[in-house]
Amino acid sequence: MKILSVNAGSSSLKFQLYEMPEEKVLISGVFERIGINDSFYTIKLNGEKVKKEANLKSHKEAFEILVDELVSNNIVTDLNEIKGIGHRIVQGGSYFDKTVVVDEDVISKIDELSALAPLHNPAAIVGIRAAQSVFKEATQTVVFDTAFHQTMKEETYLYALPYEWCDEYKIRRYGAHGTSHKYIAAKMSEILGRTNTKLITCHIGNGASISAIKDGLCVNTSMGLTPNAGLIMGSRSGDIDATIVPYIMEKTGMTPKEMDHVLNKESGLLGISGVSSDSRDIEEGIKDGNERCLLAQKMFVRRIVDYIAKYYVELEGCDAIIFTAGIGENSKSTRREVIDALNVLGIKIDEERNNTRGCVALISSDSSSVPVYVVPTDEELMIARDTYNLAK
Ligand code: AMP
Repeated sequence: MKILSVNAGSSSLKFQLYEMPEEKVLISGVFERIGINDSFYTIKLNGEKVKKEANLKSHKEAFEILVDELVSNNIVTDLNEIKGIGHRIVQGGSYFDKTVVVDEDVISKIDELSALAPLHNPAAIVGIRAAQSVFKEATQTVVFDTAFHQTMKEETYLYALPYEWCDEYKIRRYGAHGTSHKYIAAKMSEILGRTNTKLITCHIGNGASISAIKDGLCVNTSMGLTPNAGLIMGSRSGDIDATIVPYIMEKTGMTPKEMDHVLNKESGLLGISGVSSDSRDIEEGIKDGNERCLLAQKMFVRRIVDYIAKYYVELEGCDAIIFTAGIGENSKSTRREVIDALNVLGIKIDEERNNTRGCVALISSDSSSVPVYVVPTDEELMIARDTYNLAK
């Protein structure tokens, strides 16, 4: 059965087509600058990447071009061969604790939650509508970044603010990257050969979050009402004293929107280093003796260590710590610095094993009290699995 995994942004559309249940990727790619000038798309097929220009006025046109590509490349003869389409949704609020089939009620709930994900939820609805109009026979599903974290207890997900705010304004911790944390937990169960596990999953990319997972269920996670909370990220501040916000707004006359922009786009590694939000540039800066890059990296690592330590205590120990996403899968120095700071718990790195990138690997020493792994994440596959299970 062919299943399409889709991630729609306001001007982009990423896709990956799978043959399920074999989990074989048939084709993948991304449409960019939809509705803007100079739009184009890239497709990856048989290990080759091709870029093509196209006048993409809407997401619907992008899907139509995708169908043409699938037919001309003999991947399908009829678009009805695609039985399921899974859409990635950033914010599912308290409504959704699992992947569901799309209907009008589901779409109206995603729309209602747009206030909590203004850049993402409306774009995802555009993607769903476009897919519905092109793939009329396929089962459309929605896979939420927040769903996996719905198992957190009330005392964990509430903020110590007026209790009524949760009801009235939906203020609570929802978390994010749930599809990735869930994938890693499933993969780790496979690796460890059991499901009764205590895991600390570290999704460290441009966006970054850490989850505490017990027996496959999320106990706690570092992101909050929005993906700004928790760890220091590429350009997001992570946790700060909330009263800094009104203080700076009063001092500078910044509007809420401007403040939001600084907290999400001008803070984090970029804000401290003044150089870049990209960890590769930070690593280069450190090599060149840039003091602020070094400071940014120290703060970045410290926060990761703080969350691992906090979740280690909350889980009452743990069976594995896992690094994933761009930095987690690739940055040897970040992994080493984090693990070295955890030596007090008996967690130790093996330098040789840590000399790895982008594949499943044990990177801790045999004497480490907790094994530490690198496991590449695969959110698209997780979306395809959920969609396959609902479509079949
Ligand atoms: P993601 O958001 O998961 O795509 O991750 C993006 C982050 O991964 C960026 O900060 C990249 O600099 C970082 N990254 C990717 N490759 C490497 C690498 N080889 N070394 C260090 N960081 C990397």
